[in-house]
Amino acid sequence: MGNTISRRSFNKLLFSGLAGSSLFMSGGPLMASVSKARVVVIGGGFGGATVARYLKKLDPAISVTLVEPKTVFHTCPMSNSVIGGLRSMQDIAHTYNVLRNRYGIEVVHDTATLIDPVKKSVRLKGGRSLAYDRLVVSPGVDFIWDAIEGYSREAGESKMPYAYEAGPQTLLLRRQLLAMKDGENVIICAPKNPFRCPAAPYERASLIAYYLKKNKPKSKVIILDDKEVFTKQDLFMLGWDRLYPGKIEWRSGSTGGKVERLDPAAMTVSTEFGDEKGGVINVIPPQRAGRIAIDAGLADASGWCPVNPANFESLLHPGIHVIGDAALVGTMPKSGTAANTQAKALAASLVASFGGPAAGQHDLANLCYSMLSPGYAISVAGGYIQSPEGIKDNPDSIHLTSMEATTAQLAGEAEQADNWYHNISQDTWD
Ligand SMILES: Cc1cc2nc3c(=O)[nH]c(=O)nc-3n(C[C@H](O)[C@H](O)[C@H](O)COP(=O)(O)OP(=O)(O)OC[C@H]3O[C@@H](n4cnc5c(N)ncnc54)[C@H](O)[C@@H]3O)c2cc1C
Repeated sequence: MGNTISRRSFNKLLFSGLAGSSLFMSGGPLMASVSKARVVVIGGGFGGATVARYLKKLDPAISVTLVEPKTVFHTCPMSNSVIGGLRSMQDIAHTYNVLRNRYGIEVVHDTATLIDPVKKSVRLKGGRSLAYDRLVVSPGVDFIWDAIEGYSREAGESKMPYAYEAGPQTLLLRRQLLAMKDGENVIICAPKNPFRCPAAPYERASLIAYYLKKNKPKSKVIILDDKEVFTKQDLFMLGWDRLYPGKIEWRSGSTGGKVERLDPAAMTVSTEFGDEKGGVINVIPPQRAGRIAIDAGLADASGWCPVNPANFESLLHPGIHVIGDAALVGTMPKSGTAANTQAKALAASLVASFGGPAAGQHDLANLCYSMLSPGYAISVAGGYIQSPEGIKDNPDSIHLTSMEATTAQLAGEAEQADNWYHNISQDTWD
């Protein structure tokens, strides 16, 4: 009980621009130019946009080019609220105008198609080639479409949305929910670890149940899980009992949750326990590092990119740094907060490597809120230690919502979730 206060300060500290290092604690940009270095950043999401911004904040003389195909970035955080009808797409949309106009970052809306680590250049789909001194790769995840028999990208874009990158997929799942008949069920297929945002399938189940309770009282959510346990499980299940009794059914891998086959035409999911028909079927496929990281040989056999824990430099290609979901970063989960704090630590370390002030100590952290309904949220937070053996939990900094949290505390967490979203958006794009 009573972790809300520390989480609140944690939230504030993370995005106050004072995140951990003596550089950030100087309170603003280093006005003296220390470098003419060229940094190219691939990916304008949580990791990439933040590292581009903080490089310019710390040393405006560094030339920073950010490559991102989207002109408007919709965040996965809060996209479950759009699916449940609590927020609009506009609420989760961000442009690159501030990064371009206030920070002087060259934002190129294109896709990186080839990295040449020897010539130190990046080729873009549009034909341009960008030379770099250091390259940062933060492309998020790629989906393994053929991991489940019967599934494909085409099925994901039509009958059985995955909705694990925000944008058209978020809207597709929302529209299918609205069109579903009362009495039909929503099936969510959740993958094995590791995957992007381990709490997101369960937050999604909660907010879909919220919608069903009000609009389709005869329907329920069935989660078919490829795991035996999931993050914040006791807290989620307690919330489901209180808010949606009988409306969310979770089946673990060994009790019928392991999906063997999907049939998008018949809208069925087959498990070893039999077939289940869904009115809406949300399939979250297993994942690996974003395609460009795989193509560039930055990933190992695990499908993720091993990095030096001190500065996120690839262990496979020197001169290239990988952050965010694509990277193997010890015990850090694949979350927006994790990517944001990795990006800030990396920016400071790059500035130092170009001859700027020493990088100092940087706080790596995770802070993840899950909304169960309006006014009811739970969270997990923690700091991480960068050591030569790897990035590990700082055991003194772990906070988890208490099972005894009061209604007021759970409502306080929901308020903090809104603040977190506002703060990280301001720290990244806005
Ligand atoms: C439903 C859901 C809810 C979530 N909720 C939370 C939450 O509440 N809190 C939290 O902390 N995290 C949450 N997350 C996780 C969070 O979204 C990710 O961890 C975060 O986006 C990772 O940042 P990233 O920079 O690695 O990737 P992204 O933010 O996905 O950014 C990657 C970017 O790279 C671009 N890109 C890819 N390939 C190329 C290329 N070849 N050339 C140029 N650009 C390229 C993509 O277009 C994309 O914009 C959630 C995730 C989901 C799916």
